[in-house]
Amino acid sequence: MAPFIVFEGIDGSGKSTQIELLSQSLIANGHDPLVTQEPDGTPLGEAAGRWLRGYPNLSPVTELLLFEAARAEHVEKVIQPAIEAGRIVLSDRFAPSTMAYQSYGRGLDASIVEDLNRLAADGLKPTLTVFLDAPIEAARSRIEPDSLDVLESQRQEFHQRVRQGYLEMAANNPETWLTIDGTLPVDTIAEQIWARLQPLL
Ligand code: ADP
Repeated sequence: MAPFIVFEGIDGSGKSTQIELLSQSLIANGHDPLVTQEPDGTPLGEAAGRWLRGYPNLSPVTELLLFEAARAEHVEKVIQPAIEAGRIVLSDRFAPSTMAYQSYGRGLDASIVEDLNRLAADGLKPTLTVFLDAPIEAARSRIEPDSLDVLESQRQEFHQRVRQGYLEMAANNPETWLTIDGTLPVDTIAEQIWARLQPLL
């Protein structure tokens, strides 16, 4: 099975920047990576994403179920087939996002979120989770105000809880999580990710 690499962190932490750089490095080294993202990785996920971005007053439970529905489709239709075909998969967000945002952030029961994450992921676990950690203000200042989505525009304390959630998950899973200071220069971060990936390739 090819490695499944997940990128996590608050919006503006640099996930899509690093996914693009890693994808280019992998291609330059003869790999054929699949780059995908949650929740938009499938037609159902795109529809869920439109709801999540377009309706700021969705209940936290509705949000949770939309993300999990999108994930179930994404795993079954996109991620698993690619991994089985031997392609390295790079995903912008996966199950840890739901734990960080819907449980740590929104306050939903962690054991319920964990069960739904497991159900939607169908047993699939990331080979490596790259967590780009950046202070809320640093990440926010990189994002244009008019590009803020529903979750991004929530208040500061919400993002602090989300970041705290990520830090706790990373601390609890040191073997499968790589935590990187997201305020470092782009190339330095890319080098750290590339070095950590070598034993997995
Ligand atoms: P995310 O995908 O996590 O929301 P992006 O990769 O889109 O974050 O990055 C958000 C903005 O910050 C982009 O304008 C990007 O060029 C910039 N950026 C990304 N990584 C860094 C970095 N290490 N240092 C400074 N700016 C960065």
